[in-house]
Amino acid sequence: MTIAQSTATLDNVRPTGFEPIIEAVDVVKTYDTGRVQVQALRGVNLTINRGEMVAIMGPSGCGKTTLLNCLSGLDEIDGGRISVEGVDLSTMSDDKKTEHRARRMGFVFQFYNLLPVLSAVENVELPLLVSGISAKDARRQAMDALEVVHLTDWATHKPAELSGGQRQRVTIARALVNNPAIVWGDEPTGDLDSTNAAEIMQLLVDLNQRQNQTFVLVTHDPGIAQRTRRIIRMQDGQIISDEPVGDGQTASAAPAAQTQSEAV
Ligand code: ADP
Ligand code: MG
Repeated sequence: MTIAQSTATLDNVRPTGFEPIIEAVDVVKTYDTGRVQVQALRGVNLTINRGEMVAIMGPSGCGKTTLLNCLSGLDEIDGGRISVEGVDLSTMSDDKKTEHRARRMGFVFQFYNLLPVLSAVENVELPLLVSGISAKDARRQAMDALEVVHLTDWATHKPAELSGGQRQRVTIARALVNNPAIVWGDEPTGDLDSTNAAEIMQLLVDLNQRQNQTFVLVTHDPGIAQRTRRIIRMQDGQIISDEPVGDGQTASAAPAAQTQSEAV
């Protein structure tokens, strides 16, 4: 199936106004470790529309991180097609993909840690400085992003002087600072206690609703997943279910909070 065909199929079943922002068709990813080949993605088909908030769940090793890496263009695929904002990733050079990520995407990934020698605001403004924005504008935008995550008073503190929850909020501010179209989170609340996790999740839900940004969040926490609008479950490199979260769940704190305390 081509991307054009899959879009046509979706257009038949979804009301107009849904604009696909991420499309994956028959995506295959194999890691060749020399002696063994690991089939990390075994034919993934997925369409995510602009403004959606999606949770990806599944057991460890099922391919969640690989999927995020491939969809965001951080990693190459071995089969199938991926298009993001209407552009087929295979037609983009590495430089173009890097530039596209810097401009249009935000990442809350565990490997993408804060730099310990920089203050909170310096960490947040770094991606802007790298993409050529003036120091003055970068500082202003970084302070705005820190305000969104309620860290204005902590802007000059280094990561070691912040709590785990505060550090996580700095990484979220950094992911959001360029006003990205897509925010990728790989266990964005993974290191947090349930109170902090719920607060961060509320922040992401608010941003999703206010700014129509698209969020794709890997999580093992059912309480977090319930706060999104759609849950995709993976197993052995494939999507095994893809279901909307019941109406009202995202707006109502009570059921999510309950599930979360059970989950933690
Ligand atoms: P998840 O994020 O769901 O835990 P991953 O996407 O990290 O799963 O991994 C999927 C599969 O691919 C696992 O079997 C894992 O061991 C393998 N894998 C992931 N990254 C690599 C890599 N760089 N080299 C070899 N195998 C890998
Ligand atoms: Mg992972």
